[in-house]
Order: sequence, then C-alpha cells, then structure tokens
Amino acid sequence: MTVSEGLERVLERIRIAAARAGRDPSSVRLLAVSKRHSVEAIGEAYAAGQRDFGENYVQEMVAKAEALMPLEGLRWHFIGHLQRNKAKDVLRVGAVVETVDSERLARALAEQADRRGADVEVWLQVNVAGEERKSGCAPEDVEALIASIRSLPALHLVGLTTIPPFSEDPEASRPYFKALREMAERYGLSELSMGMSGDLEVAIEEGATLVRVGTAIFGERPSTR
Ligand SMILES: *Cc1c(COP(=O)(O)O)cnc(C)c1O
Repeated sequence: MTVSEGLERVLERIRIAAARAGRDPSSVRLLAVSKRHSVEAIGEAYAAGQRDFGENYVQEMVAKAEALMPLEGLRWHFIGHLQRNKAKDVLRVGAVVETVDSERLARALAEQADRRGADVEVWLQVNVAGEERKSGCAPEDVEALIASIRSLPALHLVGLTTIPPFSEDPEASRPYFKALREMAERYGLSELSMGMSGDLEVAIEEGATLVRVGTAIFGERPSTR
C-alpha cells in the first residue's frame, strides 16, 4: 500500500465515522503522524493533499521541517513530551504544541513566543486515566492549568488532547474520550485531539476534531529512528 492509498483509506474511515455520528466530515481534521518515517513519505502525503503532520521528537521534527521548507502550507504539530529547554526549537519551525502539561512548560513556551513576537497555538494534554509514567496533567489539575495558560497572552489555547491506555479493543478508549470531551465543554474549548489508527472511529463518535494517525497512513514504523 502506498502512502497516498493509506491516506485515502483513512480519510474514507473519517468520512464514514463522521456520517454515522451525524457529524460534518469537515469538522474532523487529520493529523498525519510521521514520526520515524522518511521525508520522502511526508512528501508523498503532502502531494496527496495532506498538510498537518505530527512528530514526537524535537530534533527529528526540526530536521524534517528544514528538509521540507519549500513545501508551502505544511504545518507541524508537536505531540511528544516537550522539555522546557526545547521550547525554542519547536517554535522555530512554527509548530503547534499539543502537549502542554505543566505551568512551567507553558511559561517557557510563552517566554520564547514573546521573544519571537509570534503567538503559539497550544493544546493541553490530559492523562485522563491517571496512568503512571504517562505525560499529561492530572484531571484534577486541568482547571488551574487552563487558567495559567489563559493568563499568558502569547499562548493561544484551543483544545485538549489525550492518549488513552493502550488496548486492542477500540471500545476501551471510549470512556477516556468521553471524559476529555466533557472537560473541554466545561472550559469552553472547542478542539479535541484524540483517536489514532486503532480507535479513530470511536474518537469521532465522541467528538474528536483532530485524529492523530500514523500506522494506517504510513505503515509500520521502522524500529530505529
Ligand atoms: C505515534 C502516535 C500516534 C499515532 O499512532 P498510530 O497508532 O501509528 O496511528 C498518535 N498520537 C501520538 C501522541 C503518537 O505518539
């Protein structure tokens, strides 16, 4: 299967799931998660019309952004764990940061954004299930963190993001997606980044506005980066 075929299949899955949920398919954006895949594979997806790409490692994202600089309208989303000292690099490529999960990180991003004189789009990552060793803030800290982020004028908070506990069964993700949607509603946030290759349909039924899909587009990831 080629990248453009993979992309087409995923877009079809999104359309079907949205229709079944009574939603407008254009209300669900696709983030192509290109981590560990080549610049060529990204170029192929871009040629097929894909514009939003997600990466987990700062260095890898920056290198790819530099290699793909001539491609107009390509947008990077940072979806990995971000260390404060890397905030500068992430902003240099104009990335959206989907994984803000602490006030310290929010402040570091705001400081860099102020220096650059450009606002940054951020999403708050929530560890809905409270799993140990997983990034994302605790559900009980969401309210305070949203308030801190909103107090930083350089940060533009648009939504919430989560990764549910791993399961082979897509239905197992549903309660976490639902909980994330309820949090977003409570705080007046309109965007929800949730759902991956295995559970994007369930995420769309629960209100996802951005699904993050790697394997179903690009195939299995090479094991070494
Ligand atoms: C890798 C990754 C994805 C994509 O996962 P697939 O199962 O390959 O679709 C989505 N979100 C995050 C945060 C990831 O790290």
